[in-house]
Amino acid sequence: MANPLHDSLIAPLAERYDTFLTLPDGTTLSGAAFFRMAERQAGALASLGLVPGDRLAVQVEKSPQALALYAACVMAGIVFLPLNTAYTADELEYFIGDSEAGAVICGPAAAGTVARIAGGVPVLTLDAEGQGSLSDRAAGDHPFVPAERGPDDLAALLYTSGTTGRSKGAMLSQANLLSNALTLAELWRFGADDVLLHALPIFHTHGLFVATNVVLASGGSMIFLPRFDADNVIRWLPEATSMMGVPTFYTRLLSDERFTSELTKGMRLFTSGSAPLLAETHREFESRTGHRILERYGMTETNMNTSNPYDGERRAGTVGFPLPGVELKITDPDTGATLADGAAGIIEVRGPNVFQGYWRMPEKTAAELREDGFFITGDIGLIDEDGYVHIVGRAKDLIISGGYNIYPKEIELILDEQADVLESAVIGVPHPDFGEGVVAVLVPRPGARIDPDAVRAGIAPRLAKFKQPKAIEILPDLPRNTMGKVQKNLLRDRYGAMFKA
Ligand code: ATP
Ligand code: MG
Repeated sequence: MANPLHDSLIAPLAERYDTFLTLPDGTTLSGAAFFRMAERQAGALASLGLVPGDRLAVQVEKSPQALALYAACVMAGIVFLPLNTAYTADELEYFIGDSEAGAVICGPAAAGTVARIAGGVPVLTLDAEGQGSLSDRAAGDHPFVPAERGPDDLAALLYTSGTTGRSKGAMLSQANLLSNALTLAELWRFGADDVLLHALPIFHTHGLFVATNVVLASGGSMIFLPRFDADNVIRWLPEATSMMGVPTFYTRLLSDERFTSELTKGMRLFTSGSAPLLAETHREFESRTGHRILERYGMTETNMNTSNPYDGERRAGTVGFPLPGVELKITDPDTGATLADGAAGIIEVRGPNVFQGYWRMPEKTAAELREDGFFITGDIGLIDEDGYVHIVGRAKDLIISGGYNIYPKEIELILDEQADVLESAVIGVPHPDFGEGVVAVLVPRPGARIDPDAVRAGIAPRLAKFKQPKAIEILPDLPRNTMGKVQKNLLRDRYGAMFKA
């Protein structure tokens, strides 16, 4: 019987009597105990009538049992479909319906609503302590015979974050997940002695696949925190060897005076992804701790595409080089032709990490997944003279004003350097004369007040006239989703009518 993902990542846990998970209260769980938990859950899922290929929708708080559901699905050949805990009942109804989930697992408080919207599919509960009707059903000892699965069979249906529009279901095969896990474990030198501080959510590709699969592939363990909170991270950092985070983790640590180099002495790796890491965060983190954050680039559809080097220069403002086995090129948004190094265009990637297509969206899949295997990511980037990949923005955020293409990032980098500006977001909104007008949304540094005229004067010598903002707006902070991504669509909604006659 074969099931590559199970055989490589899950099965080895069965014989691991050392710690696999450490919880914030110091409780530990061995690999073997975790494996038995997943086995019992796999039995419970099968008893619901789920068969290989069925989708299991899961919207629960992070816990060892919630993570074990991923392992249980791999065992049972069920397609794992984790959902953001912030989703409302309406959103949930869409995902359950769109995915045609065969069963749903949710928190106890949502059970009534979910039962109403789930249209007759079984609904089980799992609370933050790992209790609920799922655990009741999974009680007892049931060794489980793993389902037969091949490398091309689906392991997960993961919806994108919805930053640029409605979330799309990315179909990920066993081979997609496994290739990335093995490549990254080697690239980032993960081993059995590694202890990963895991504070990311597990409904998103970063915390679920990148972080967890790397640890599973290398035999290491995790300090498993329910969420990022500075108290727990500071308490547990001295016990860890590595941490994977989003930029907001690092800015929050830097704003905490308890965060000192003393805490990070035993650490060997900090990584950042999901959103751009500011050069200033990079610098401050290095001067505070002596560690240089390794920035990398991934997405729901492809797991991970690029990484800064483990050895060698980790270049700020870049996401490093394509992973071994992954090809990356920059193409012209209009013609699709490959562009020379240094020119900005659409990032396309090809490799064993690239997904199988969007769930029930054949036209979109055909439009974005080329026949030769290249995926048109929708991110805009360039490759510099040393081969480092820079992300310049998203195709959907490209501003076309007076016939010119304007990349918001170029303007944001200059705005961020202005006095009293903490950060910025540049958007295009409808404009009667120019098609779109550039709007800069600025966030002041704590306690500071931004003078828009001073900002205008500061950027004027550095930006062509057509790139200079036609309006400057000030907000206390930028709208962000749980992964720290700026939600420019909300800003466009908010300021969309400002140039209307
Ligand atoms: P949707 O596709 O639904 O609009 P999304 O693209 O934000 O949402 P994800 O798959 O979670 O959904 O995010 C992937 C995106 O995150 C990438 O396409 C890229 O734009 C951005 N990203 C990831 N890592 C980085 C990074 N290191 N620097 C800049 N952007 C990054
Ligand atoms: Mg996307």
